[in-house]
Amino acid sequence: MTTAAVGREQPDLWRLRPAALPPELDRLRAQVRAFLAQEVSSGRITTRCDQWLGGWDEAFSRRLGEHGWLGMTFPAAYGGAAAGALARFVVTEELLAAGAPVAAHWIADRQSGPGLLRFGTEEQKQTYLPRIARGECFFAAGMSEPDTGSDLASVRTRGTRVEGGWRISGTKVWASGAHRAHAMIALVRTEARTADRHAGLTQVIVDLPDPDVHIRPILLLSGEHHFNEVVFDDVFVPDDRVLGAPGAGWQQVTSELAMERSGPERVLSTFPLLSALVDRLASAGSEASAARLGALVARLWTLRQMSLAVAGRLQAGAAPAVEAALVKDLGTRYEGVVIEAARELGGAVPDLGSADPVASLLAESILHSPGFTLRGGTNEILRGVVAKELGVR
Ligand SMILES: Cc1cc2nc3c(=O)[nH]c(=O)nc-3n(C[C@H](O)[C@H](O)[C@H](O)COP(=O)(O)OP(=O)(O)OC[C@H]3O[C@@H](n4cnc5c(N)ncnc54)[C@H](O)[C@@H]3O)c2cc1C
Repeated sequence: MTTAAVGREQPDLWRLRPAALPPELDRLRAQVRAFLAQEVSSGRITTRCDQWLGGWDEAFSRRLGEHGWLGMTFPAAYGGAAAGALARFVVTEELLAAGAPVAAHWIADRQSGPGLLRFGTEEQKQTYLPRIARGECFFAAGMSEPDTGSDLASVRTRGTRVEGGWRISGTKVWASGAHRAHAMIALVRTEARTADRHAGLTQVIVDLPDPDVHIRPILLLSGEHHFNEVVFDDVFVPDDRVLGAPGAGWQQVTSELAMERSGPERVLSTFPLLSALVDRLASAGSEASAARLGALVARLWTLRQMSLAVAGRLQAGAAPAVEAALVKDLGTRYEGVVIEAARELGGAVPDLGSADPVASLLAESILHSPGFTLRGGTNEILRGVVAKELGVR
């Protein structure tokens, strides 16, 4: 422990206490599971890996909206179910386990909507939240820039004060789904940098498309168009599209990241592959492979309890940024371990077009895996966040 840590209040290492899911959520889980089984058997959706990144299906998002399974944490006055973070956890867990195509609404439902609810004006809430809850309005997150990913406070996209609003110039990169989103919440610098690097940043809502916003694809290894470079060419953003207080962007974006990092999607991107592997080895596996699978499932269960514990803290109104960082680091590394096990035990050559589910899900997982530990903040950065909390950095 460094001398800087001496005299600090001892962190509560037991803060990540498992949350108990109320029994009434069993009924909700059964309803979602039955709906998903019907969606799969009717051929409307196909089970795939990492579909919160790759599975853009607007019609499916709308069907979820019709069931009240989007905007579950929003109050009824804004079209939500007012069901809370634990109910949302149950629904997202089922969607991810089924490998359902949830990418279209993912950012809006997970972070933009809750951010609007917390920091938005009444008009902003009325404009966006009911549409998000119906699966009709999708958001992109504009944080990273070509020279700024990990060190977010150094963003260079500028907002310049003009009559009635701001003119925004600069480039965002890796913006998931921006080419199909209805709006982006962008972090921009609106005051010159001072010794306090976190001061002077502002979040703005940019409605899309806009003739002065130029969106260009950056293709994944698989050739999929998922994320983009987004150039703001002197874009006008009216005052009523500033989110929260000008200059308070850093505090707002930090609370957004707590929502972004802790969910079951940081553990379950490769769950359909694990499930297919279990099916295969149940009939054809050795004792050694059974032991390996058992260890994988035990680890999954532990991580799931940790993610659930963060949902419990969100439900209680906390902003558990450090706990979320911990879950994301451990969870995304686990997702990679599932791929390694499938490579070694699955007896299948990775092949996207194969009819063998292990072969196709393995190929998909491998091609998406480089992003697992990067997206939402890299694991190296997250370990720094945890170390700081423990007073060892
Ligand atoms: C699939 C995917 C989707 C994404 N979607 C979005 C999105 O929608 N919106 C958005 O804004 N961004 C998005 N991102 C961007 C993502 O948040 C950044 O890639 C990430 O924060 C890292 O930033 P960078 O790419 O600039 O890497 P850099 O910050 O340049 O880091 C490069 C390497 O150096 C390491 N490193 C950097 N600083 C330190 C340090 N201080 N200590 C130790 N190691 C360090 C990093 O861990 C990393 O390994 C997405 C990324 C991916 C992969």
